[in-house]
Amino acid sequence: MSKVEPRHPYVKKLEPYQPPDLEAAADRAGVEKDALIRLVANENPFGPSPRVAEALAGFDGYHVHPDYGSLREAVARYAAVTRGQALPEPAERVVLSNGADEMIDLLIRLFVEPGEAIVIAPPTFSMYRFSARVNRCRVLAVPRRDGDLSLDAAAIERRVEAGGEGGQARMLFLVSPGNPSGRAIPLDVIERLLELPLLVVVDEAYIEFGGESALKLLPDHENLVILRTFSKWAGLAGLRLGYALLAPRLARYLERIRPPYNVNAAAMVAALATLDDLQTVQANVACLVEERGRLGEALGQIPFLHPLPSQANFILCRVIDRDAQTVVDGLLDRGILVRDFSDPAMASYVRITVGRPEQNDALVEALKDIDCD
Ligand code: PMP
Repeated sequence: MSKVEPRHPYVKKLEPYQPPDLEAAADRAGVEKDALIRLVANENPFGPSPRVAEALAGFDGYHVHPDYGSLREAVARYAAVTRGQALPEPAERVVLSNGADEMIDLLIRLFVEPGEAIVIAPPTFSMYRFSARVNRCRVLAVPRRDGDLSLDAAAIERRVEAGGEGGQARMLFLVSPGNPSGRAIPLDVIERLLELPLLVVVDEAYIEFGGESALKLLPDHENLVILRTFSKWAGLAGLRLGYALLAPRLARYLERIRPPYNVNAAAMVAALATLDDLQTVQANVACLVEERGRLGEALGQIPFLHPLPSQANFILCRVIDRDAQTVVDGLLDRGILVRDFSDPAMASYVRITVGRPEQNDALVEALKDIDCD
């Protein structure tokens, strides 16, 4: 038999995702892995509601396949109340996924043919490009503006109207509040982009931390999909639960290609317990929002950092007068992990997740220490 090779010609060019190497970081800092301060992946440092562990321990249905009916209802109710939305969201608008990451892949597979294009506005979340490439779709990149990293809606319109070589643009991925920019996109800009002849996905992974949700645009725009996750506000990144909110007609198509048991029972139980204890989790979110303000001010006092305003649970900082890598390495030596970027356009930036108050204090002290190096 001839050598087995992937049928997909791009696979050889793809690199497997590299999560942060915690062992190496702990060795470098000379601390235990658990003592590292992880401000690298926008996780929630408070973790989930204490009710989650209780519900997982008490659940007696692990031996049967999950039934998502009550979770879809509960998510629909939650989506309707987040950030003051008045519209009741019927459960037919909700499609669940194994993290928002899986939903990005499902949406591309459903709505974009190989060879057709998605549009992204870099710097942006990496999974849009990743899933497009895995699905043999092309990527049209319309960079955000230099400096404040705001979205250039006119440039997106021109790019979509011009089309890409060989591939019609079918889907636009927006992220609000932005990762890594931290900036929310004003609703009038989203509304304007919804006039384009493509599906607009608004990734609201961080919406619980700030910005106005595009949810209220949903009833009047069938080409809008809102993407959400339990990874950030609910502290459930490890259990993997995301969801899309979209027109019921499109939701029914998504349901045809969704693996029937893509969300496991533990994620389901944990999400239901979270939605039953919103007060605790929302108090943690409020604390992180407050810490974001405090940390932003403290970072602004560090001579070599320029923090950008943020509506998410992280702060993007431009590094001035020195190499961003020296800052990342200096923090690593002190047991603190922050995010740097392989994209050359982002080489002078670091992204810092807002931690618990004492973690943020430790970060600021470490940065002052680095300043004296
Ligand atoms: N969208 C954005 C903008 C994100 O930053 C992330 C997490 N890094 C995700 C989606 C993925 O979320 P999940 O953990 O639910 O796959």
